[in-house]
Amino acid sequence: MKPPLRLALPAGIAHPFAMRDAIAHPFPDAPPEGQATEVAPGVLWLRLPLPMALDHVNVYALDDGDGWTVVDTGLNTRRTVALWESLLAGPLRGRPVRRLIVTHHHPDHVGLAGWFQARGAELLTPRTAWLYARMLTLDVQPVPTPQALTFLRRAGLSEDALARRATERPFNFADVVHPMPVGFSSLTEGQTLRLAGRPWVVRLGNGHAPDHATLWTDGLILGGDQLLPGISANIGVYPSEPEDDPLTGWLQSCAALAAHARDDHLVLPGHKLPFTGLPFRLPQMAENHASALARLLDHLASPRTAIQCFLPLFRREIGAAEENLALAEAVAHLNHLLHKGLVCRSLTASGAWAWQRTDR
Ligand SMILES: [Zn+2]
Ligand SMILES: [Zn+2]
Repeated sequence: MKPPLRLALPAGIAHPFAMRDAIAHPFPDAPPEGQATEVAPGVLWLRLPLPMALDHVNVYALDDGDGWTVVDTGLNTRRTVALWESLLAGPLRGRPVRRLIVTHHHPDHVGLAGWFQARGAELLTPRTAWLYARMLTLDVQPVPTPQALTFLRRAGLSEDALARRATERPFNFADVVHPMPVGFSSLTEGQTLRLAGRPWVVRLGNGHAPDHATLWTDGLILGGDQLLPGISANIGVYPSEPEDDPLTGWLQSCAALAAHARDDHLVLPGHKLPFTGLPFRLPQMAENHASALARLLDHLASPRTAIQCFLPLFRREIGAAEENLALAEAVAHLNHLLHKGLVCRSLTASGAWAWQRTDR
């Protein structure tokens, strides 16, 4: 029997197991609904609810003296809007939100950007994030597009499941993202912003979302979903770019950001708890994918569809509510192996890709 294939970590990433338990959470209790926790002078941590398994998103408010810069927004729901009204009147003391920074285009982060803009805030976000958010919010589909159905067929959904999906209303950005007006300011790599009396450097990451903004200042990082503790950020492929290999971008970002990471940085993430230990966490995030890819290669000794790769990838059963995200993640890992020449694929009679290890 062959030993399982191992994939090397990208250059610049140290092996993580030399630094066990290096992640710490200096603020172990999340702020209760409607309240704020000051995690550094002038930097408030707030939480908003999400109606899914990951039941919250973290947002931050930075005190600019006569007003606030808010980072990320939560979804556009009645509950979140009501919560923002009470946060603005309460912990934010009725002062105006002059600037809104959106780290990336996902609905839990951009959902109320248009709402804040309507109240006078300037929107700052990477151009790719704004274009994706606005395009997807305008792209309302009552049933899946032919391209979306082809994507699902290629991934190996059964004829029954495809027929069911063809008549169901898919998830639409506009369901949970406020309409976005024309007009924003683009955040770019290396740019410096002044927030809460400090200079912050913008560093862009990839893989979870294209051109995901992170902001770095002395001792603090606004990490969004690029820098999460405990859970792995979703790395997914969607019908918009079905041949994409976002995992390469993710691994490159882990290596590039590691060059700037320090043990004493307090990372303020988009989900879960603020943490220290980023020099440990970054290679751990890369290693999680390297071991998932090795399990996947083992599994692909015989041909399988993307949907038949859930168990080795996630090491648990995937429920219906998680199926779309799991599919996106499975295709991302398969595309990565294809780009590296480690697997090949052929179409089955039913139009699914069957993936198999090349054994070079
Ligand atoms: Zn995200
Ligand atoms: Zn998120």
